[in-house]
Amino acid sequence: METDGLRHGRYLSGYQKKIKNVNTVTEAEYQSRLDTCLECENLLYGTTCRFCGCIVQIKNKLTAANCPFPYAPKWKGP
Ligand code: SF4
Repeated sequence: METDGLRHGRYLSGYQKKIKNVNTVTEAEYQSRLDTCLECENLLYGTTCRFCGCIVQIKNKLTAANCPFPYAPKWKGP
């Protein structure tokens, strides 16, 4: 019987194959962004930004992403 983890992993793997030409940040930049989010009072359930609804473990890998915190983003893209 297939577990949820296996099913999700297969789904994400198939999804990644469809995404092309997406620029991602370095591991150091990703960790810096993620550390900021993990300490943010607006992170829900340890995964979801209250303002944009994004899963930060995914969003923070994208070079073009920005923190949507009103008036004073906690981290910035390019
Ligand atoms: S407001 Fe910014 S720092 Fe806070 S969880 Fe959202 S993206 Fe992360």
